[in-house]
Amino acid sequence: MIPVTKTFLPPRQEYEKYLQQIWKTGWVTNNGELATGLEEKLEDYLGVPHLQLLSSGTIALQIALKVMDVKGEVITTPFSYVATTSSILWENCHPVFVDIKPKSLTINADKIEAAITPETTAIVATHIYGIPCEVEKIQSIAYEHDLKVIYDAAHAFGVKLDGKPLVSFGDLSALSFHATKLFHTVEGGALVTDDEALAEKIFLSKTFGHKYNEHIQLGINGKNSELHAAMGHCVLPRVDDLIEKRKQISRAYIEHLDTDNLQFPHVPANVKYNYGYFPVIFESEKIALDVVEALENKDIHPRRYFYPSLNELPYLSNMQLCPISSDISTRILCLPIYQELEIQSVKDIAELINLVVTD
Ligand SMILES: *Cc1c(COP(=O)(O)O)cnc(C)c1O
Repeated sequence: MIPVTKTFLPPRQEYEKYLQQIWKTGWVTNNGELATGLEEKLEDYLGVPHLQLLSSGTIALQIALKVMDVKGEVITTPFSYVATTSSILWENCHPVFVDIKPKSLTINADKIEAAITPETTAIVATHIYGIPCEVEKIQSIAYEHDLKVIYDAAHAFGVKLDGKPLVSFGDLSALSFHATKLFHTVEGGALVTDDEALAEKIFLSKTFGHKYNEHIQLGINGKNSELHAAMGHCVLPRVDDLIEKRKQISRAYIEHLDTDNLQFPHVPANVKYNYGYFPVIFESEKIALDVVEALENKDIHPRRYFYPSLNELPYLSNMQLCPISSDISTRILCLPIYQELEIQSVKDIAELINLVVTD
């Protein structure tokens, strides 16, 4: 069986060393030394001043909206994982979708201004597959119209734009450390900011809003445990190797796929990429579904990431049109990419796909 992704698990003895430490201290959660130590290591690795470890990427998005006091309408991308939209809805805000650019698949910044109304308070955009949004354009629009900018950076771990950490743009960036992501803590996430006061507010938000008996603000439980942090300590030293391996797999796909009949999203040259996903855009939904069938017959499981286009979610109150996202979401697939995937399997997958697309 070849799944779309496979969680990287470190040697068990290494994780067990951390377990021994946890058993010795008896400290299992509530911002213990493994969690705070991991925050420091992640700040170093990512090159950011303040990182708050959280229990998931979704809770990171929700806390971001809360601490930025986002209300009313939120301009957002239709091409992302459902959590980007669901967290906006969960915080009782109204998502206003702006269509994506056909090459980068990120929100089309040139169309944002037309969607702004007096109710708009924020922009929530996703660096989809680790491809940067048009951060400069978005920043100047936000400045002009006094909007908050929150990035869903769930795919952006380690990505750099012109040498700068991609997670350093916007007011806040939300990361996911879910088991399916490049760097993981089994479940987990984080918020990144360069504003120390905001980092403190996030800390309070994730710890019920109080310090001992002093209740300072409204909070929730968004902490992560020592057992999760321990996994992060084991995975982080290997993340550069994980990226390198994925780069080799990506190269092998590009080399062996028949690129006359399919496209890849465009990663600009000024981006240091993380190869977290390997998305392929086919010419039609029928071809994409034929590819799924051909691969599944061989027990290979690509995924329809991301489908459906989020403006089409059935529980939205009104239907907004995003023709580019709706079209691309029907014919894009993510191919298997993970540490142990062999180059021979990549070649086999490419050959199976070439047979379908050249039919
Ligand atoms: C995975 C993901 C999330 C949610 O993160 P969790 O840690 O699973 O809650 C949010 N947005 C995007 C784009 C994701 O891929």
